Amino acid sequence: MSKVLYEKDIQKGVLQNKKVAVVGYGSQGHAHALNLRESGYDVVVGLRTGKSQRKAEEDGFDVVSVSEAVQEADVVMILLPDEHQTAVYHESIKPNLQPGNAIAFAHGFNVHFNQIVPPSDVDVFLVAPKGPGHLVRRTYEEGAGVPALYGVYQDVTGNAKQLALAYAQGIGAARAGVLETSFQEETETDLFGEQAVLCGGLTSLVKAGFETLTEAGYQPEVAYFECLHEVKLIVDLMYEGGLENVRYSISDTAQWGDFVSGPRVINDETKERMKEILAEVQSGEFAKGWILENQANRPQFNAINARESKHPIEQVGKELRELMPFVKQPLQTKQTKQKD
Ligand code: NDP
Ligand code: MG
Ligand code: MG
Repeated sequence: MSKVLYEKDIQKGVLQNKKVAVVGYGSQGHAHALNLRESGYDVVVGLRTGKSQRKAEEDGFDVVSVSEAVQEADVVMILLPDEHQTAVYHESIKPNLQPGNAIAFAHGFNVHFNQIVPPSDVDVFLVAPKGPGHLVRRTYEEGAGVPALYGVYQDVTGNAKQLALAYAQGIGAARAGVLETSFQEETETDLFGEQAVLCGGLTSLVKAGFETLTEAGYQPEVAYFECLHEVKLIVDLMYEGGLENVRYSISDTAQWGDFVSGPRVINDETKERMKEILAEVQSGEFAKGWILENQANRPQFNAINARESKHPIEQVGKELRELMPFVKQPLQTKQTKQKD
């Protein structure tokens, strides 16, 4: 089994007298900056003028332009949306790097697919939390953390690995466990996971179940509870104790249904599709499509997004959640998560 590292395994000294620039203050950026500061590190936030800049200032950070932040810092963590990183890197980050600095990422996409080719005189590492930024922050505040992968792409100082580990510790990840990876492995598994299982697979499964029930004439409210709301309750059990814990908690009738019907929904054919998706991630075909989609100002992304937001599961969900005050408001809605 790969070695998972925890707080006791990590030397903090290597990051102690260094300044960290957190570039971007969105989902990951705000969590990294706040957690690092509370872990005792010296943090400057690099941003353009705008919404995030005001938020970072309200949170008490020294907020400067991306160029200035890079000039001031020893370690530059790039937490911009993946599709904007290349432009900002060439314009504001690369020209301000000093030999011996480190640049860091929370996802290997741009380095792995050669959109960003780092200069040969800086350390390059990644610390990729395996969870949304808002949980990286919330769990840190609760004294816990979200696990993370770390990896070194380039080590010129001899310290890159220790820096990555100290950084992971600083954002709270070592409380949950830190595991070594490569940029290639992190990028390919992250893209595959979000497409086939966590995001694409799950939303498609939920929608297909909801549609099957409503098309058969059942009430949308009942279908919503059955196919969407309860997912969280089941996933919580899975998170706490694996598949066994789910099967322990559900009725034997549900467990029998799980055994005989689950493999009819997700079967060898589904796995073949998953293999195709993985192959497209590995070959760079997915990356190329996403890069070109952005260059074309996202015509397909926007069309699909508009269509999805009108799905009946979204309409009925909105009404039902208003009646369940204990269901928290989304951490950040699409409207407030500025994409441009
Ligand atoms: P967000 O979209 O949440 O945040 C983007 C931030 O970048 C905002 O503060 C935005 O500021 C700023 N920004 C955007 N464009 C520019 C620009 N041109 N110049 C300066 N600042 C800009 O990003 P995420 O946190 O989701 O993603 C960051 C990285 O973390 C990505 O590499 C992603 O793959 C990775 N990651 C994300 C996870 C997540 O939970 N979301 C999970 C694990 C990894 P403004 O308000 O001005 O637009
Ligand atoms: Mg991910
Ligand atoms: Mg991802």
